[in-house]
Amino acid sequence: MLKTPKALTVAGSDSGGGAGIQADLKTFQELGAYGMSVITAVTAQNTLGVQGIHPVPVEMILKQLNSIEEDLRPEALKTGMLFSAEIIEAVSRHIRKYEWKNVVVDPVMIAKGGADLLRRDAVEALKKQLIPLASILTPNIPEAEQLTGRSISTKQDREDAAKFLHDLGAGMIVIKGGHLSHDKAPVDLFYDGEQMHELEGRRIDTPQTHGTGCTFAAAIAAELALGKTPIHAVKTAKTFIQEAISHPLHIGSGHGPTNHWA
Ligand code: PLP
Repeated sequence: MLKTPKALTVAGSDSGGGAGIQADLKTFQELGAYGMSVITAVTAQNTLGVQGIHPVPVEMILKQLNSIEEDLRPEALKTGMLFSAEIIEAVSRHIRKYEWKNVVVDPVMIAKGGADLLRRDAVEALKKQLIPLASILTPNIPEAEQLTGRSISTKQDREDAAKFLHDLGAGMIVIKGGHLSHDKAPVDLFYDGEQMHELEGRRIDTPQTHGTGCTFAAAIAAELALGKTPIHAVKTAKTFIQEAISHPLHIGSGHGPTNHWA
């Protein structure tokens, strides 16, 4: 009997369906992994922004993690919105204790509309507890700046930031280039711990980019669950997200979601 690859997302729910848990599960499905979820926070959200955030009690987050460990151990997982230091500590402790592998950490901090998805005082917990457990860490440039405490504009800055994050304990790092200046192609930097790789993309000018970070990290986790190598997983995730952004859905009147079945 063929084993079904299982991928887990540990993240926040987006009632609008474009980011968070909902984006992750759609991505897992599209890429052929069985999707599971541990919900860390419930958000009231649509394409216009985040109207409310309700974190799930840590005890209930641990129950969800234990239910999965006891019966449905994942081949790979991704973490997204973790909201507080307490939640980061609980999730990190569980990953360490049960030695879960193929951990993709998307260091989600602020939604495009400006809402805080991670409390400012939780950044240290992210750096000390979770980043050392990351097989692949996927910050965008503002997140990499927060994590390193340095501003990033040149290629050298990005390489230095990737090395800094590797020294914090992340196995591999993708610094996403989407926030680079708009007249440049969005080149992602992938550092595998030994070599820097530049992954070039196309700049697609659209406001329909809600959930791109979540979708990219989920696609990497799905590919790792399928047994693909990290470089293959990152390249496939990049193609997947580019297709998703290129075929917008035109849902809602604000920043619409990417299209997971493009
Ligand atoms: N809402 C949730 C629950 C998320 O996890 C994320 C992404 O990380 C977002 C919103 C961010 O959405 P956006 O891509 O619009 O910044």
